[in-house]
Amino acid sequence: MKLSASRMALARLCLYWTRDDVQWPEQTTSPAAEIGTWYHAVCAWIIGTALGLLPEGTPIPEPPECLSDASELTPRDDANTLLAELDEPAGEIGRAEIRTEVAYVYGPNGTRFVGFDVGREYGELADGEIPGTADVVVLWPSESLAIVVDWKSGQRTDPAKENAQLALLALMVSEHHGVDTVEVQLRYADGWVDRHTYDAFGLVDVKDEVDSLIRRAGQDPKPVEGLYCTGRYCPIRATCPRTVEALPDGAALVLSSSPAITGPDHAASLWHRAEAAQSLLDSVVTAVKAYVDTNGPLALGDGKELACVDETRESIEASTIQAVYEPVAQWVSADRFAQCISVSVPKGALEKAVKEGAERGRKTDVWDAAIEALRVAGRLKSRTITRHRVRKAKEQAA
Ligand code: SF4
Repeated sequence: MKLSASRMALARLCLYWTRDDVQWPEQTTSPAAEIGTWYHAVCAWIIGTALGLLPEGTPIPEPPECLSDASELTPRDDANTLLAELDEPAGEIGRAEIRTEVAYVYGPNGTRFVGFDVGREYGELADGEIPGTADVVVLWPSESLAIVVDWKSGQRTDPAKENAQLALLALMVSEHHGVDTVEVQLRYADGWVDRHTYDAFGLVDVKDEVDSLIRRAGQDPKPVEGLYCTGRYCPIRATCPRTVEALPDGAALVLSSSPAITGPDHAASLWHRAEAAQSLLDSVVTAVKAYVDTNGPLALGDGKELACVDETRESIEASTIQAVYEPVAQWVSADRFAQCISVSVPKGALEKAVKEGAERGRKTDVWDAAIEALRVAGRLKSRTITRHRVRKAKEQAA
């Protein structure tokens, strides 16, 4: 069974990818996924530190390299807001049990607890079992009440009321902890919180739906394609028979120099098709490179070969300009040297250094002031590159 809580929304639309006889291509990660993982880890760290759940001195997780502007995301605010909310009315937090990264498995015999912070290591899963991890679980057992929180560092997802992943997590929490009311919360990085409460009747409906999906997943489901194949990141979108069947058509349209686009829906479907084709090509290229790694250079005809080779590029690096000039001073005058250099400082490294020296809560303001000072001094250069890219909703509004 390849179903998991995080893929329940896709499972509602198509179950073919869950079949045991369907091979998944290697799953790759993306910058957005890396940022999401970091964001979750920081939120867990904040709550774990505030509540004494972590060993003393546990360091805050470092942002991934792909996150150019950490100040855009505020897991610190997000997790602290949750803690403040839980503390009202006064002392409420003291009565609640709060845990982060709580892993469960739902199955025919009910829900079992797996552990805290297990990543994807859920252990052996029996037939019909579905694993899932709640970012935060808050319990008031005496009131038969729980809250399940899902942090969202990215764009809007399905509303809390219709969110299949949170519905299953609510069911797991209700079954394992014996509570009959579960509030689910989607907490976005921009401060928006979307909530829905499941009562005992709502949880019975969720159970019926999940059991029905598990049953249907075991009945050799066929692929049912839609824009969700790429939109919801089906794990086999590059190799699914529907993608492969559609490629001759799709490829012809995608590769044609001027496809006759009939309107925005047609253009959007071509974009998704192109992404699927690209994903398929990427998986082919990855497989061929892996073959070369194992078997050595591959003859491509015409005297060419595909090989894995080490390439070394040299660059001149030093902590000061003087340290570069001194070794070559006998051949270049100081004036001539000054004319031929231009120094570029990595903006990300400077930002980190400036923010390190700033007070808590003022780091972004201080960095903004530093950038403005560089701009006024004429030290900030900007280049405009025109390119097409997919924009998030908040960028469109800006
Ligand atoms: S690519 Fe689409 S049709 Fe194929 S298994 Fe995935 S969701 Fe189903």
